[in-house]
This record gives sequence, C-alpha cells and structure tokens, in this order.
Amino acid sequence: MEPRQSQEPQKPQEPNLPPAKLFIGGEWSAPQGGKTFTTENPATEETLCEVASGSPADVDRAVEAAQAAFTGDWRKTSARDRGRILWNIADALEARIDEFALVETLDNGKPIFESRYVDVPAGIAALRYYAGWADKIHGDTFPVEGPFLFAYTLREPMGVVGAITPWNFPIIQALWKIAAALACGNTVIHKPASYTPLTALKFAELAVEAGLPAGALNVVTGGGSAVGGSMVSHPGIAKISFTGSTEVGQGIMRQAADTVKRVTLELGGKSPNIVFADGDVDAAVKGAYNGIFYGKGEVCAAGSRLFVERKIHDEMLEKLIARTERLRPGDPLHPKTRMGALVSSSQRDTVMSYVEIGKKEGAEVVTGGTLADVGGKGYFMNPTILSGVDNAMRVAQEEIFGPVLVVIPFDEPEEAVALANASIYGLAAGVWTRDIGKAHRIAAQLQAGTVWINQYNWYDSGAPFGGFKQSGFGRELGRQALEYYTETKTVFVGK
Ligand code: NAP
Ligand code: MG
Repeated sequence: MEPRQSQEPQKPQEPNLPPAKLFIGGEWSAPQGGKTFTTENPATEETLCEVASGSPADVDRAVEAAQAAFTGDWRKTSARDRGRILWNIADALEARIDEFALVETLDNGKPIFESRYVDVPAGIAALRYYAGWADKIHGDTFPVEGPFLFAYTLREPMGVVGAITPWNFPIIQALWKIAAALACGNTVIHKPASYTPLTALKFAELAVEAGLPAGALNVVTGGGSAVGGSMVSHPGIAKISFTGSTEVGQGIMRQAADTVKRVTLELGGKSPNIVFADGDVDAAVKGAYNGIFYGKGEVCAAGSRLFVERKIHDEMLEKLIARTERLRPGDPLHPKTRMGALVSSSQRDTVMSYVEIGKKEGAEVVTGGTLADVGGKGYFMNPTILSGVDNAMRVAQEEIFGPVLVVIPFDEPEEAVALANASIYGLAAGVWTRDIGKAHRIAAQLQAGTVWINQYNWYDSGAPFGGFKQSGFGRELGRQALEYYTETKTVFVGK
C-alpha cells in the first residue's frame, strides 16, 4: 500500500520567477502597450506573478530577431557547435533542475515528484538527444541521367519556427520542439500556454546564458489569437509546430493555408487501454491506474477508455477501485504527493461537468466524482471511475482531460479492436496480454500513433510520438521529428 499523504503545509522555498517581460533577441523586453496578465498557483489560488501580454507588434519584433539570428549567428554556427551548445544548455538546466521543477509545479499544480523526476529530466533528455543529432543530419548523393555527374540533396533548416505549446507539460512540450528545431539550424519563437508560461521564459534566458546566440530562441507570452494567431499568419515564420486541442489545431491548419505554412499538429486523444483475461491482471491494474491518473489525467495520451475482457471485468474493476481510493490529491509541494491540482478553475469545472454528463447518460460513478478538500483552496478533484459505460456515450468519445476513467467490457479481441478504433482520435493505445502473438496482432490493428504492450504512458526521446486521425500529424521526438524541421534541396552537378 502506498503511504498516506500528509496534508501538512510545506515550508515554501522562494521561487525564482521571471520578470513580466518578453524574451526577444536575447534580452528581456517590455511588451508594446505594456499590458500584463497574471498566472496563478492552482493549488492555492494565489497569483504567482504578472506576465507580459504580447501583441502582434511584439510577434513582428520577435520574427525580426529570429530571422536575424537565422541568417546570422545561428547560421554561422557549425552543426557540431550547435550540438555542443545544446549539450551545454542541457547541463545548465540540469544544474538548476530543482529551481525549474519548483516553478513548474507552482504554475501548473502538478506534484513536485513529477516536475523534478519526470518533466524537467525529460526536457534535458530531449536536449541531449538532439544535441547528438545536430551533426548527423545530411542528404544523399545519387546518379542521375543526362549531362550530369551526379546529384545530391541537402537537408536545410526551414527558417523561423513558431512553437505553440499547451499547459499540461509545459517544459517537456517546449523542449521537444525547441531542441529538434535548433538542432536542425532553425531559430524559434515560442508561445507558451497562458496558464503556465513561466518555465518557458526562464528557459530562454538560461539557454542564452549557456551560449545560444541572441535571437535563436525568443518567447512571446500572451493570448492565443493575439500572439499564437499572429504567428500562424506571419509570412516571416516558416513553420508552426503546435501542441494543443484539436479545435485550435483545426483553426491553425485553416489559417496556415494562406501562407502555405508548414504545420505539425499534436492534438487531443481518447486513448484505449485494452486488458485481456490472459494478461497479468495486477500489472494491468497498475498500468490502467497510471495510464489515467498520472499527471491528473491532463495528459494527451491518457488511457482514458479502459476496455476489459468480461471474464475479468469485475475482478479488475474491484482492484482498480481499491487502488484508486488510496490516491488522494495533496499539496503538490509535498514530496509524497502523487496527484496535484487541476490547472485552473475552468478546467476543474469542465472535468466535473463530464461526471454529470456521464451520470445522465446512465454511467455509474464507482469511485470519486467529487472535489477534494486540500486545505480549503485549489482545484483538486478526486480520481474518478465511471463503469457501465457504452463506447458511444459522450464520456467515452470526448476528451475530458482530467482524472476520469471510463470502463467498458468486451468479449472478443475483434470487438475490442473495433471499439478502440471507434473514435475520432488516434494518439495512443495499450494492450495487456501474455500472448505475444496476440499482442502484436492487436498492435497492428489499432489506429494509434503509439501502442504500449504491457505498459502505459512511457516516452523516450528516441521514440517518435504523434497521432493518427484527428490526434494530428507529424511526429515529435526520434529521427522522424527531424523531417519536420528541415527542407530537402536537390542539387544537380553538371559534367
Ligand atoms: P489549447 O487551448 O489548444 O491551447 C494550446 C496553445 O494554443 C496555447 O498556447 C494557447 O494559448 C494557444 N492558442 C489558443 N488559441 C489559439 C489560436 N487561435 N491560434 C494559435 N494559438 C492558439 O489547448 P490546451 O487547453 O492548452 O491544452 C490541452 C489540449 O492539448 C488537449 O486537447 C490535449 O490533448 C492537447 N495535448 C496534446 C498533446 C499531444 O502531443 N498530442 C500533448 C499535450 C496536450 P493560450 O494558452 O494563451 O490560450
Ligand atoms: Mg499557472
């Protein structure tokens, strides 16, 4: 049994918060018009600090700085030196890991355990992974017919990349994009989510201190359409790498058409986790639990639809409820806390409204479904399981993006695959079975960008991540991501 979490308030460390400014051309810069907004700590409902509210004119300034770096200092930096600089940035971030983890937890509400041991380390890992790639991105030579000796291809950077990121894994999502884009020789303008802008700002400053040329990474905070929208339509930005909701992604795709801008979209999900009776039930219980409750369920690839073979349905559900009832939200700064606060009051309200929708649709709340009291403040919710769910219900089709699991029984493997694939999304999936042939057969049939076998929610810098269907297109991480940050140029060499 996991230790009970103490609700003792932790003595707060003093967080090192960034100024209410944008980071453009290697320095802090006041937003035009001087407007700011606030970011809060969702565990205490207290304002953390003011943040600069950027405008389209600020995006213009950032584009100018990023283009100057693209044709200037960053272009002149050799591929090997780009790798060395990325590695130095990773070292600098590692040296300040506790400081960054604290700010991430204060801004997002996630447990310090996650920020310190998963999020910031995963960002560092991505920087090191792409540091290694920087001098290994190259074209081919090949024979061609005609008055030519041969032809070759160059893999060139695209130019200024616009990175737009969500609030659930702020530093991870930022660094997956920034590391790959910079390794390829692009420069970047990053617009972080307004709920969680702080680690992005701190990171840009750290990167320049660690040797990144001014202008190679700029951060413009501010509203989704004022800043994000201006980036999407800006002719000086070559590519938009977006992670966020399917709805906003659809708008970005439409808007990008005007400048034929390259886009990659990492969008929502409603990922199936399929447990067969021949699987290790206890391991599957743990996997299903981590699959939905890790990260408060505010995880794009959350295993939010649990399909259980009917023979073991009741046994599995009973074990899962018992485990879930030992998980209680707590102070995110307490090292033993494993579930923090939802990111905002509006996210809490949305997630809670789905509990009501589920009830009206005929689902049964078998545990949770209630707010949690953690010192009388904050957006805490108890982990929730709905059973008696049909895959056609809204709670089984719509992304809830919170700690709410729906459980659906099935009888045959074909039925499980059909139900799993009956979704507009296709981000990830899980399969639990001891039958190795069946595991691979099912993995081949699932419409998902990632399939975990006897495991869930695992990521690696070397493993490409992205969606099928309305979960988006393009891939982050791995060698594949490099394709999305480079253009291919063919050069013919005459005789
Ligand atoms: P969101 O509302 O789509 O926002 C994502 C980002 O887009 C934010 O920075 C937001 O800025 C910005 N934005 C909003 N409107 C915009 C516009 N018109 N033009 C350009 N940018 C705009 O998503 P979210 O609520 O932050 O994040 C949750 C969603 O992200 C979920 O659907 C989740 O599944 C998805 N997600 C997907 C992945 C993946 O890899 N597939 C990973 C994580 C999350 P503001 O914050 O200022 O509004
Ligand atoms: Mg915040």
